[in-house]
Amino acid sequence: MQVAPAGVVIVGGGLAGPLLALEVRALGAAVTLIDGAPSDGSSSATAISYGVIPGWPLAPTPLARRSASASRHWRALEQRYGPLGWQRRGLLLHGPNRWLSLLGRLGLLPLAQVDTAVLAQRLPVALEQAGVERRSARVEALTPAAGGWTLQLSDGSTCSGDQVVLAAGAGCWQLWPGLPRILRRSWAAVLELSAFPTALGRPAAWLPQGFARLALERRAASLEQSDWLVDPGLVPWGRGALVGQHTWIAAQGAAAGPPVADRCEQQLREELAARAPWTLDEAIGSAVLRQAAVAFSCNGAPLVGPVQDAPGLWLFTGFSGAFAQVPVLAPLLAQRLAGPRQRGVHAQRELQQLGVWPQGADSGQ
Ligand SMILES: Cc1cc2nc3c(=O)[nH]c(=O)nc-3n(C[C@H](O)[C@H](O)[C@H](O)COP(=O)(O)OP(=O)(O)OC[C@H]3O[C@@H](n4cnc5c(N)ncnc54)[C@H](O)[C@@H]3O)c2cc1C
Repeated sequence: MQVAPAGVVIVGGGLAGPLLALEVRALGAAVTLIDGAPSDGSSSATAISYGVIPGWPLAPTPLARRSASASRHWRALEQRYGPLGWQRRGLLLHGPNRWLSLLGRLGLLPLAQVDTAVLAQRLPVALEQAGVERRSARVEALTPAAGGWTLQLSDGSTCSGDQVVLAAGAGCWQLWPGLPRILRRSWAAVLELSAFPTALGRPAAWLPQGFARLALERRAASLEQSDWLVDPGLVPWGRGALVGQHTWIAAQGAAAGPPVADRCEQQLREELAARAPWTLDEAIGSAVLRQAAVAFSCNGAPLVGPVQDAPGLWLFTGFSGAFAQVPVLAPLLAQRLAGPRQRGVHAQRELQQLGVWPQGADSGQ
């Protein structure tokens, strides 16, 4: 079955793909969003994400400063499309620095959270409302075609577009062999609680002062054996909570399938029992483990721009704080893809200044 060509085709329906699709549609261009669940039963990273958005820059970089304004973008999206799960959250920071914990308790570190249980229900409504065409299938192959690309889908159909954006998270690397080597994947696991623990009082985000996961990601390229760690955090999620986070990264060249679930769960539970500042004996007993593959970039900067030597193919992935970065970067990439020429040039310049335009990428697409 041949489907009529679409202007922009976006692969991936987690967070990056849908937010980019909304921005491209807002410019009036036709967009097709293709998403297919992994066959191994794992979730998208977005589905089990804490969705936390710090209201202050986490690093002294232009991107971190810009990302601190992400809540403004979420509120604008909600004004246009209705609730997406954004809300302010109380923050309880735990770790060695007492002053940092105190700042959190006093509300001097403004935190917001996109509740990903709500987002999962509301994003399809927003996409429908915006007129984004949605296809539920996995993309199995991408082929350059005259003036664009043809995508082979798992349901036997094809789809074509002038421009194709890979926003498939950890699935990107399977779609095109020539992606930058700094783009990698880890496996995350969290425990899902069906109710927010009453012992913790009002729903708030309980987070470690620093996430060890980020340092492990920086070392990923030189890992000689697979490594794992736990960052003890807990956030409200729908009526329940997500507790985690276990991170596993395969050694260089090792098979990148998920780590054994039972082993992850045991490691996660043991680390939480030893290090978490809360006790959830009963609630945690019945918690369910969920796993997801997560894309990251070894240098901490996402990849937002053209794929080298593949005219019309674009990347939008590798975020380190996606809920803060995606809403500020999606409008810029949308302008570059579908805006008037002059605005596209400005948008590209901004993406380069923010340090997210892939190095060595041909900018003249
Ligand atoms: C436990 C946990 C906690 C986190 N906490 C935070 C946080 O507090 N704040 C924050 O900013 N970030 C957080 N993150 C990171 C953040 O969730 C991710 O960076 C972000 O959700 C990635 O979104 P994405 O759209 O790029 O990828 P994904 O959400 O993984 O979406 C990719 C989509 O592409 C689809 N796909 C893949 N391959 C194909 C294919 N071939 N064909 C069709 N579809 C395909 C997948 O099925 C999936 O739906 C957390 C992550 C985890 C796991």
